[in-house]
Amino acid sequence: MIVYNTLTRRKEELKTVVPNEVRMYSCGPTVYSRAHMGNMRAYIFMDSLRRVIRFNGYKLLGVMNITDVGHLTSDADDGDDKMQKAAEKTGVSPWEIAQKYTDLFFKDTDKLNIGRPEVVAKATDHIEDMLWFVEQLVEKGYGYETSDGIYFDISKFPSYGKLSGNTRLNDNIAGARVDVNDEKRNPADFALWKKAPKEHIMQWDSPWGRSYPGWHIECSTMGRKYLGDRFDIHTGGVDHIPIHHENEIAQSEALLGHPAVNYWMHVEFMQVDGRKMSKSLGNTYTLDELEEKGYSPMDFRYFCLNTHYRKKLNFTFDGMDSAKIAYSRLLALLKACAESEAKTDPTIIEAFKKEFADAVNDDLNIPLGMGALWTLLKNPPSKDIYAAALEADKVLGLSLDKCLEEKKDDVPEDIRELAEKRFAARKAKNWAESDAIRNELAAKGWSVLDSKDGYTLKKNG
Ligand code: AMP
Ligand code: ZN
Repeated sequence: MIVYNTLTRRKEELKTVVPNEVRMYSCGPTVYSRAHMGNMRAYIFMDSLRRVIRFNGYKLLGVMNITDVGHLTSDADDGDDKMQKAAEKTGVSPWEIAQKYTDLFFKDTDKLNIGRPEVVAKATDHIEDMLWFVEQLVEKGYGYETSDGIYFDISKFPSYGKLSGNTRLNDNIAGARVDVNDEKRNPADFALWKKAPKEHIMQWDSPWGRSYPGWHIECSTMGRKYLGDRFDIHTGGVDHIPIHHENEIAQSEALLGHPAVNYWMHVEFMQVDGRKMSKSLGNTYTLDELEEKGYSPMDFRYFCLNTHYRKKLNFTFDGMDSAKIAYSRLLALLKACAESEAKTDPTIIEAFKKEFADAVNDDLNIPLGMGALWTLLKNPPSKDIYAAALEADKVLGLSLDKCLEEKKDDVPEDIRELAEKRFAARKAKNWAESDAIRNELAAKGWSVLDSKDGYTLKKNG
């Protein structure tokens, strides 16, 4: 297996700490709101990596955190705790908010065939472990107290910034930020632990009074707890490189005296109109919203897998439509294979298997692997092809065996055609035709719900 390591900026052969076993940590969700499809791209990447690791015969120990306290509204430790803010806004306790969005998160990931890591660890279940970690850092001279918390002194960690290559981070941030906390020794020093104002709902006893953890410490702590002092892979989105993961590296190496992680892997953004899909920009879609528009979770998964994880992926409904069409065509071709009695020359199947394995083992080149599958499907249908596709699906996770399921509650062909015609008319602002077709559909017992970029059909009655 070859993987791209953000730390060395190179593709490298994966060499594991424990033979035949991969230990991997993935930054998980902050559960103060509904995860969006940009987040889901990150977890589809995590899942693809998990699948390729297993495909190569490794045992896998994966850990993912659930951030249910301590993630401030700015990654750079300004602002409020996101959980606290959500609680203030809704009047619901942060514990309930965390539970609600954790459940919704797993509902979505299940639908998207994203496997759950072997250990899912909540920050609030590890307060004692985190406190111990911070106390160690203070004892070793890396942490210091201010009036509002305990901070990490980055001047004590000379290689700070090595992951992003931004070793002058401190200067840059000092120039860019207005509200530099003047008790901090260096502008880029970050909070390990925060003293809790009375109104902060989630707070615990500590040597520094009632308080709560910073965000970065949870990942250093739980990674070490479950995976040991040195483990193989750490994943996250590219937004984590310059702050969260730099801070994790600083904390862990300060404690251990050596690096904790061998390979850092980061997934690029899902964008909308050239900007990151994110809650703060208000350009997000959730899985429910996609389903309401008639896209299945597998349509979205297909959409993601079609672009390499280190490339930006622009979310568009045209892109989703293409994915939907391609995915259903894939299922139709595979159904024909499953029902065929013909044979395929074994050399063709073997060549496909090699091409597929080489692709996915080359830094998860899943688009190339899918290309190989499409090429294989140009051959006359056969059960051999079907069997090879199901084997590949262990990596793709596209539920390809669903091709044999009869589609229930599907929209009849003539209704779908009318609706498509109407959609085209509406796009062309041909309102008269669009209204006429709407009436025709209504007469046939169907209503159309329009949305900005598409429509959904509903059977009346
Ligand atoms: P958060 O819950 O904000 O900590 O984010 C959860 C995960 O989703 C992190 O690994 C982020 O890097 C990732 N993420 C957030 N927005 C996007 C996006 N637009 N595209 C890809 N990954 C994202
Ligand atoms: Zn993390």
